[in-house]
Amino acid sequence: MPPVCDPTGTEPCRVTLAFLPDWTQPVVWAVNAVVIGILLYGLWTRWRLWKQGAAGSTGASFGHRLRMLLVVSVFQRKVVRRRFAGLMHVLLYTGFIALGIGTTLVALNVDILAHLDIDILRQAPYLAFEFALDLMGLAFLSGLGMVFFRRFRQRPKYLRNERPDLYLPGVLLLLILQGFVLEGLRLAVLQPQWQEWSFVGYALSLVFRAVGVDESFATVAAGGSVVTLTPTAALAWLYGGLWWFHAATTFVFAASLPWTKASHFLFSPANTFFERAVPYGRLDKPFDIDALAQPDAPQPTLGAASTKAFTRFDRLQLDACTVCGRCTSVCPAWTTGKALDPMRVILDLRKAMDLEAKRKPLGAPLPDVVGYDELWACTTCMACMQECPVSIRHVPFIVDLRRNYALELGRIPEEAQGMLRNLETNYNPWGIGWDQRARWAEGLGVRTMADAAAAGEPVDVLYWVGCAGAFDDRNRKVAQSLARLLQRAGVRFAILGPEERCTGDPARRLGNEYLAQTMIKANVETLNRYAVKTIVTACPHCFNAIKHEYPDFGGTYEVVHHSVFLERLLAEGRLTPTKEVRELVTYHDACYLGRYNKVYDAPRDVLRRVPGMRRVEMEMCRDKGFCCGAGGARMWMEERVGEKVNHRRLEHVAATGAAVVASACPYCLIMLDDAAKAKDREDIARSDIAEILEKSL
Ligand code: SF4
Ligand code: SF4
Repeated sequence: MPPVCDPTGTEPCRVTLAFLPDWTQPVVWAVNAVVIGILLYGLWTRWRLWKQGAAGSTGASFGHRLRMLLVVSVFQRKVVRRRFAGLMHVLLYTGFIALGIGTTLVALNVDILAHLDIDILRQAPYLAFEFALDLMGLAFLSGLGMVFFRRFRQRPKYLRNERPDLYLPGVLLLLILQGFVLEGLRLAVLQPQWQEWSFVGYALSLVFRAVGVDESFATVAAGGSVVTLTPTAALAWLYGGLWWFHAATTFVFAASLPWTKASHFLFSPANTFFERAVPYGRLDKPFDIDALAQPDAPQPTLGAASTKAFTRFDRLQLDACTVCGRCTSVCPAWTTGKALDPMRVILDLRKAMDLEAKRKPLGAPLPDVVGYDELWACTTCMACMQECPVSIRHVPFIVDLRRNYALELGRIPEEAQGMLRNLETNYNPWGIGWDQRARWAEGLGVRTMADAAAAGEPVDVLYWVGCAGAFDDRNRKVAQSLARLLQRAGVRFAILGPEERCTGDPARRLGNEYLAQTMIKANVETLNRYAVKTIVTACPHCFNAIKHEYPDFGGTYEVVHHSVFLERLLAEGRLTPTKEVRELVTYHDACYLGRYNKVYDAPRDVLRRVPGMRRVEMEMCRDKGFCCGAGGARMWMEERVGEKVNHRRLEHVAATGAAVVASACPYCLIMLDDAAKAKDREDIARSDIAEILEKSL
């Protein structure tokens, strides 16, 4: 076997297939072709499966997709939100990519460039290459160590129900160890002067040389006949054997990729690339009630009765899940002991998709496959979607399944049915007479749009009060505060009064698309009749629905949340707080204002401008904020299992030592109020930011 580098070190070593017989290359290429064929077949079977779903559009430009791919997948923006898991994944990811590039470069050099008499891996670049690969290999090995520590030692609670996947970390561990040992053997045989550059391989080569290869070991059977090898030749022989083992492991790993957890190496970036460009707060309009009401109109099955109802992009989402459990770890329902486990929802749907593809019966309606209690426990808080590192959107799946319950199977919690009846008769969930909607404003001199139009008075802003502001006693006070603030700032505003209806948000998130669209269409007709341009509302649910969902029904307006509007009035000097409010306050982020619409600073800025007020943040705040428990129409359902979500949130408030918890959402205010009363913590005041601001004027 000729030496492959100059032992004097004047010519640094280069890549070579030393110790391997000449037929290695053609055999490797032949097996490679088979492996690529199996891999492509596996990917094709998944592609065929996704295509069985309804056609859909991502609504995203190529540039947008590329940006998302870079930010989320390449630069791992969401992965690094967690310290331990983030570091673990970054080590694995960078190590894997670097080792993959290294292997590709070696193959390129040996299999293609060598035939053209080109050698890109020699001299100084080769030394850097050796050093970098060892470094990246170590990073990868550390990442794997963290995986085993996490799975078997830390054992996060949210992953305990999942059988640990040992195949992927096991095979990756085998590959990296094989790589290091191979390098150690190579250096033990060649002992080039530059060997310290490959520092891990060098350390192993010292071990191999120290252990030595004695005569008995060196006498091995080769090709059936007993030959005596020199210790060096024995190491070379060992190298050859291990090289083939390493190649075989790599082939098995690559060929099995579409059928194992390693598929997320491909499907997760693909999902990020194809993520829909619609705002998180916008639910699809699955059908139009007027179109369905036409004579002879086809009557589709409503809601997700089968995974085929999901679009092909939705089906890709199901395959992209990495089973990391991050969604579950932040779910307010799961963390307070409910049956809902958002990761399980995705995995159950994936399993159902596989079964349906094989034409096997699911054994139950699709919503029941996920689970009745699970589906109704969701507050649609978006914490799962915020946390998911591969851009899976859980809430649209959950709502689509709820639609099937509500519209086809007729199975919704009884209390929620009462709320829907109230919406039908009085256009508000409280069921108070619709004609009482403007009672909160009596004596305040607040105009209705109808009055203003009749008097020919200009209106710049429509104050959308929302059902809570109009009918809930506690929130009526907030509505009054906000109205007084607007008057004080000289804003020319009006309300719809009895012409306002529920925005449809609770009915829509409950799955009753019919009723939701009835509300939406009536509201859009009213708003357009008054040619409304700007809407201000104190309710994040109304804000989100009108801003993101009304355009689908012909209603496009500038929609401003009261926190942003008040901040503007303060900045313009139209409101000037002067009185000190000497309190320690903590602000609770509403999900539909924060996570869904990224309004985090405006409410805090309003509080910051109040003289004398000190602020303290809860540990779970801003995009990590914890739900109050009312979203997704949960406000109108009993919470019978586990700890109440609003009680847990009050604990977070109490832990700050704040005397006041401020909110910018009527639902949150109600939930925090209820929790304070139930937990005997009425010493903690609950206020809307508008009330606090008004106190300081
Ligand atoms: S939206 Fe919130 S409550 Fe629903 S599954 Fe996700 S984290 Fe859980
Ligand atoms: S849905 Fe997303 S966050 Fe949840 S387990 Fe799957 S990849 Fe992880």
